[in-house]
Amino acid sequence: MRSDQPQKRRDAEVTQSRSFLSARSLRLWVSASRPPARFLVFGVVLAVLGLLAAAFAAGNQTQPSKQATQREVVITFDDLPVVSTRRDIDSWRDVTAKLITTITANKIPAIGFVNENKLISNGKRDDARVELLRRWVSIGLELGNHTFSHPDLHSTPVDEFEENVIRGEEVTRALLAEKNKKLRFFRHPFLHTGRSLEIKQRFESFLKERGYTIAPVTIDNSEWIFARAYDNAIDKRDRAAASRVAEAYIPYMERKFEYFERQSLALLGYEMKHVLLLHANPLNADHFDDLVRMMKRRGYRFITLEEALKDKAYALPDTFTGAAGLTWLHRWAITRGVSKNFFQGEPRTPDFVLKLAGVASE
Ligand SMILES: [Zn+2]
Repeated sequence: MRSDQPQKRRDAEVTQSRSFLSARSLRLWVSASRPPARFLVFGVVLAVLGLLAAAFAAGNQTQPSKQATQREVVITFDDLPVVSTRRDIDSWRDVTAKLITTITANKIPAIGFVNENKLISNGKRDDARVELLRRWVSIGLELGNHTFSHPDLHSTPVDEFEENVIRGEEVTRALLAEKNKKLRFFRHPFLHTGRSLEIKQRFESFLKERGYTIAPVTIDNSEWIFARAYDNAIDKRDRAAASRVAEAYIPYMERKFEYFERQSLALLGYEMKHVLLLHANPLNADHFDDLVRMMKRRGYRFITLEEALKDKAYALPDTFTGAAGLTWLHRWAITRGVSKNFFQGEPRTPDFVLKLAGVASE
């Protein structure tokens, strides 16, 4: 159907310009003749209007094909201000500055999820580290809560876990208030959402009461393992190893995108507005711009978390209470009762990256 549209549009344009030219000479002719000519003019006007409508319709028909290649994703960074094997303020400033440069250059409405325990240095709050978060807020980015100290809901009593969420609000809430913004998103550490429906629902009610919306993830990945390997290589001053990790990182992430695009199509019948999980680490500080290029090449547009959550998929039921920190696509699939085959084909982290990271398995 689509292939004949350009021809149709060209035909309409040609006929339309011909009619326009002849309309001028017609007007001269009409002024000299009377009643029968009016009908003729009426007919010509109708014909021109008809052609304009046809041209307009042909123009409109090109819209769906444009939208089909338009993909949308939210970029989310966890473990702010920085997650790295290095703790010194200079390296954290460097990571923050580089990430913000790429985010700003590409106008990405990213959101960062904070662990406020990282703002403490030598037993007290370190203003230099708070300043790093202020930099995110100052360029209009959103911050969310990722708990105070990154506890695991699967091994922490709910009361204690909830206290950790509250303790993680203080600085972030104040920084957002400086920009007249509210703290409104929460990301579960390890994407662990509770081992029973009772715990899961109790915690979700707690979040709702405190004004939080859960930040799901639909494109999960082992970027954190690549980042650990990259950090280790740099710590050992092994530039060649760091380069090998960085070179493997983007193709690996592209395979993850392909996989989750297919999963979305298989489960929902369309490519959803995705949420990508990344971390504020040195690997992304040095290579997030390569990742951005890859996403743009795949037709991605960067949107806010608020915009992404308008996708009706996020209203699907999720009753998953397994041990794994799964993506929401997989949770919806499990809740729907799909076969195990549904999950096949997920890209794996290369062995040399696992080894260099000191991680036994994904
Ligand atoms: Zn985290």
